[in-house]
Amino acid sequence: MSQAVERQIDRSNMTVSDEVAIQITNMNKWYGEFHVLRDINLTVNRGERIVIAGPSGSGKSTMIRCINRLEEHQQGKIIVDGTELTSDLKNIDKIRSEVGMCFQHFNLFPHLTILENCTLAPMWVRKTPKREAEEIAMHFLEKVKIPDQAHKYPGMLSGGQQQRVAIARSLCMKPRIMLFDEPTSALDPEMIKEVLDTMIELAEEGMTMLCVTHEMGFARQVANRVIFMDQGQIVEQNEPEEFFNNPKSERTKLFLSQIL
Ligand code: ADP
Ligand code: MG
Repeated sequence: MSQAVERQIDRSNMTVSDEVAIQITNMNKWYGEFHVLRDINLTVNRGERIVIAGPSGSGKSTMIRCINRLEEHQQGKIIVDGTELTSDLKNIDKIRSEVGMCFQHFNLFPHLTILENCTLAPMWVRKTPKREAEEIAMHFLEKVKIPDQAHKYPGMLSGGQQQRVAIARSLCMKPRIMLFDEPTSALDPEMIKEVLDTMIELAEEGMTMLCVTHEMGFARQVANRVIFMDQGQIVEQNEPEEFFNNPKSERTKLFLSQIL
């Protein structure tokens, strides 16, 4: 298991409210003939920190991409912050402005500076004036501890720094929910910790988070719930302690025996 998460976390500060942030009901999705997500039911309350685990190809990315409509589902309902995801573009825009996403490959714009990467969406989507967008960007670049890189280009930064920029860039849109899809999988081991530390801080501040990750140390320490997916289904979910020490299904046991 990765030793990347060493920091002590004060879980007592991390509250989960009764307010529902995301509700997925009987959701199914196909890629052509291939039934990729099967009857997904998931309620995420505000302040929850959910880790999604499961073998490669089990549908983890597809599921979280459906939450901000990077992928379209064909059956069932997804409600984010009270707004149902339909083909209505207004709803999609509203949800995308509330849901931030970080990917394995940081997807920064290489020809824009770090600061410009962070101000682009606030200026063009939120119509925030440039000066104000820059102040917000600097605030979040300080938060991820790289304000001194603001005028450099992504290619001049390490992978860990680029991923922290990607997180800061998402935060500039003031999202209420953050989705992470294997944010540390493309990083060298020594850079994993700095990105996980940033995510831990977000969790401590009460951000609602869904994280696909293989960092089981992070799951144990930060998640309030671990979800295990296999073959397009949510097979099992539990608080980390129970999930790791007392897995119920054979598929979960097999998965854990392979990764721990
Ligand atoms: P995971 O993130 O758990 O590795 P994915 O959600 O990426 O899984 O993929 C689930 C399954 O769907 C895999 O079998 C994958 O090959 C398939 N898949 C993913 N994206 C597409 C796509 N755009 N078109 C067709 N099949 C896809
Ligand atoms: Mg994936």
